[in-house]
Amino acid sequence: MLACTYVERGRFELREKPKPRLLDPRDALVRVTLGSICTSDLHIKHGGVPRAVPGITVGHEMVGVVEATGPAVSSVRAGDRVTVNVETFCGECYFCRHGYVNNCTDPEGGWALGCRIDGGQAEYVRVPHADQGLCRIPDTVSDEQALFVGDILATGFWAARISDISDEDTVLILGAGPTGLCTLLCVLLKHPKRIIICERDPARRAFVRNRYPEVLVTGPAECRDFVLRHSDHGGADRVVEVAGGEDTFRLAWECARPNAIVTIVALYDRAQTLPLPEMYGKNLTFKTGGVDGCDCAEILRLIEAGRIDTTPLITHRFPLTRIEESYRLFEHREEGVIKVAVRCGE
Ligand SMILES: [Zn+2]
Ligand SMILES: [Zn+2]
Repeated sequence: MLACTYVERGRFELREKPKPRLLDPRDALVRVTLGSICTSDLHIKHGGVPRAVPGITVGHEMVGVVEATGPAVSSVRAGDRVTVNVETFCGECYFCRHGYVNNCTDPEGGWALGCRIDGGQAEYVRVPHADQGLCRIPDTVSDEQALFVGDILATGFWAARISDISDEDTVLILGAGPTGLCTLLCVLLKHPKRIIICERDPARRAFVRNRYPEVLVTGPAECRDFVLRHSDHGGADRVVEVAGGEDTFRLAWECARPNAIVTIVALYDRAQTLPLPEMYGKNLTFKTGGVDGCDCAEILRLIEAGRIDTTPLITHRFPLTRIEESYRLFEHREEGVIKVAVRCGE
């Protein structure tokens, strides 16, 4: 089968590989129908993920059809259409039992797929801990509607959940990239008083204005003043930092009101400074990233009910045979790309 492979730092290649098979009674084999490319894949490509193993098949955003299951798998069976969770987790360890599945202590727990073990930018993928890692897609939900459930939408959902948003809050979201937009969709479900999104790219700002007219939009340079003018208590009550830019961590806490919650979803390339003397007395609560992707069934129900729709994020479609071209487009943000959908089963 064809598999997009992390060859070495700076190089991914579509290679012919043997079809994966079940290795553990809890495994499932999934025929991938649709996959996508995530910014984390680019982090792997550029050597920014030391845990990533050269030779592995990359890709951790995908949906497909279960082809086979090990004898210990009970939640899905052959023929089921499923979302694949970016995090495989055992469901039994201390962290899993408390919902902190990102920190699952199992050797194949956490973000393993497409990083430490073969992922899904391929025709088939082996999914460990399939009872936790797969979710059946309702019949009325299409593959494209479900494509982001296991990764960026799970991240947005988790970020909105841990930010404890109330209907009195002004919520500032930094970044309107794919994950920022998924975060926005999930924050909208909490019906805060106001949502402000800050984005550097004018095309992405226009996208938000057109699609979500109830959301206030600003750019980084004027963000702080804008938030002051559009909040009730000298800053945002909740800040969700998804941008991960040069100065966005500072912007996040500067735009927060005293006693706000600042949720950090962004994956930074570099260490960030927490200037405690400057923020003394502001009494902020920081929550930091690494999605606990354990709400996928609930997210699928929300999609089925028409309350979340991420399909406008899919701006480009490619077959797997042209994945190298789709990487180029995604990496260089050509043609106004937000997300690509890669058809793997043809
Ligand atoms: Zn990802
Ligand atoms: Zn676990």
